[in-house]
Order: sequence, then structure tokens, then C-alpha cells
Amino acid sequence: MVLLRNLKREPPAFHQDHQIHHHLSSLATHYPCLQKTGEDTKGMSFNATTSLPEALYAGTDFTALSWLEQQWVAWYATIGNPVIATGLMSFLLHEIVYFGRCLPWIIIDALPYFRRWKLQPSKIPTAAEQWECTKLVLFSHFTIELPAIWLFHPLAESIGMSTYQVPLPSIKTMAPQVAFFFVFEDLFHYIAHNALHKGALYKHIHKIHHKYSAPFGLAAEYAHPAEVMILGMGTLLGPLLYCFFTRDFHIFTMYVWITLRLFQAVDAHSGYDFPWSLQHILPFWSGAEHHDFHHMAFTNNFSTSFRWWDRICGTDTKYQEYRARVQAAKKQMKYASKEQQKALEQKLIDEVEADGIREEALVVESVSKKTVKVQ
Ligand SMILES: [Zn+2]
Ligand SMILES: [Zn+2]
Repeated sequence: MVLLRNLKREPPAFHQDHQIHHHLSSLATHYPCLQKTGEDTKGMSFNATTSLPEALYAGTDFTALSWLEQQWVAWYATIGNPVIATGLMSFLLHEIVYFGRCLPWIIIDALPYFRRWKLQPSKIPTAAEQWECTKLVLFSHFTIELPAIWLFHPLAESIGMSTYQVPLPSIKTMAPQVAFFFVFEDLFHYIAHNALHKGALYKHIHKIHHKYSAPFGLAAEYAHPAEVMILGMGTLLGPLLYCFFTRDFHIFTMYVWITLRLFQAVDAHSGYDFPWSLQHILPFWSGAEHHDFHHMAFTNNFSTSFRWWDRICGTDTKYQEYRARVQAAKKQMKYASKEQQKALEQKLIDEVEADGIREEALVVESVSKKTVKVQ
């Protein structure tokens, strides 16, 4: 930060700061592409003795950078190694966004006032359940996601993704890219999630995620490591393919996309449907109401962000039927007491859940039968 302020005020001061110069020069040893002499592909001119900020940000007008871009430069200059800087930022972003987004739902679950909007009101997660869930999520973050994130930088570099570079892309540039990633991920997830509900894939992998028939925010990433990898591909492949074919993509857009995708995943597992929830504004948005049914009924509603693939492929018939029954029951019970209305709603929920338990048992049993036959 200090470095950047110096850079902004008086760029030559940079060369006089030996400590920083030494710190940043060490970057060159970790970043071979910056040790080349002469013209770099991105238009930077430097040689092996050039300190890395000069190499990384040669020709950059620091006074023209926005506040965010200044922080971006300061981060890369302070960490001193782009691979570590990107890896650390990616991991921190994921942790802060994921748990930061879960926090309001933990508070909401603790306040009885919000029960009126709970989709399965009889199932409020206990503190012990939430802690149990957090432990597995953290375990998978550190064992699966952390190494994957670390390997991401070399992969991103190899396909020409911008990381430390400034300026950052504008909203106008990012919006269509992020929209494409949402549509791509939704289709990928729909296909992969459908496959995860079949035989051995379900029994040995996806069953863990279905531990909670009434999900809560923290349960969004409660899954087998293989599932984290398989479904995570849908999130990463969109940006990687886009970058591979266009060679014009900044990792900052990826951070925006991952932030929105994490919001979507945590909210879809929240278990609450408010009158102001997004699906009431965008009717094709899935939201919690759509995914909560998937956990409750075991079948139907395999997509993540949008409702269209389930509708087109007919994998939302039970869900539609259930909604129609709830609506009819509400009409019928218009003049009944609140308790009677609640009791009827619970009866419908119980029926769907019982049906789901039967369906799940059939999938698990089908694997056991096959195993017996083979033996
Ligand atoms: Zn599922
Ligand atoms: Zn889920």
C-alpha cells in the first residue's frame, strides 16, 4: 500500500527503495517469464536486472488507476510472487464469500421470526448440525480446493489469462461473460447432477450431499470430494473455455463470477423463500424454493441457477404437482385456523419426503443387487 502511494506520488521513489526493490526483484526468480530480456508479449520492456514491479507494471500510469486497481497492484507487489498472490487471493475470496454468505442464514435460522418463510418449517438445523457440516466443508476446502486453486495459476497463465495486469475489465466487458458462465454452468450441472443420481455414483458420492433433506446455507458445499471436483468443473470450465478461445480474459471476471455463483449456491440451500427472493422477480431463476424440493423429494430439479432444463426435460413434474397441491390446499383451507393450515402443509411435505426416502432406497438397493449378481 505504501509502495503504491509512493508510486502514485513520485514513481522514481520506487527505485530508491532498496528494501522493496530487493523484495520485488526476488519475484523474478519465481516468475521465469519475466526474466526474459527485451520485448515481452504484453508490450513490457525489461531485462533480468529489472525489479519485478517495473517488469510487471512497466509503462503503467498509476495515477490513472481506480482505487480497486491500486489495491490490485499493491496486492501483487506486496506478496511478491504472482503464483502465491493469485493462489492466496483465490482461496481467501472463496472462504470469505462462502462463510460470509452463510452467516446471515445462520442468524436467520436462530431467529423464530423468520420461520414463516422457512420451506420446511419443522426442520431447523441445530448448532451441532451446523458445526458438523462446517467441519466437513472446511476439510474439503483445505484438502481439495486449496491444492486445486494453487494449480490454477499455471493453467490460467498457459492459456493467456490476465492475472496481475491492470486495468481491470469494465462491467460492460464482464456482464456478458458472467451471463455465459451462468448458462454454461447450469447446463453442465444439470447433466452431471442427473448422472450423480444414478446407481454407484449416487451411493458412493452424491449420497453425502443428500444427508440433509432440509438443507441450510452451510450445506451448499457439504459433499464428497469427488463431487466437489465434478461439479466444480462446471464453474471453472466456462471461464477456461472462454479464455482459451478468445485469449482475452482477466481473472478478476472469474472472481466476480465465483462470488455470484457462491451466493447462488448458498442461497439455494438456505431453506427460505421470501416474497422478495429473486425467483419472484425472475421467474426462470431457481432459488431456494426449487432446490429445497430436490433435497426433500430426492428426485426432480437437478439444475442450479435456472429452471428451464428441468422444465424442457420433464424432470420437474413431481415438483409442479406438489406446487399445485399446495396451492389447492391453501385455497381450500382459506378459512381454517393457522394451526390447521400448518398441519396440512406439513402433511404434504411429509408425503413428498416419504416418497423421496423410498426413491433413494431404490437407487442404493439397485447397486447392492448388481454387486450380488457379480459375486
Ligand atoms: Zn442431488
Ligand atoms: Zn443441494
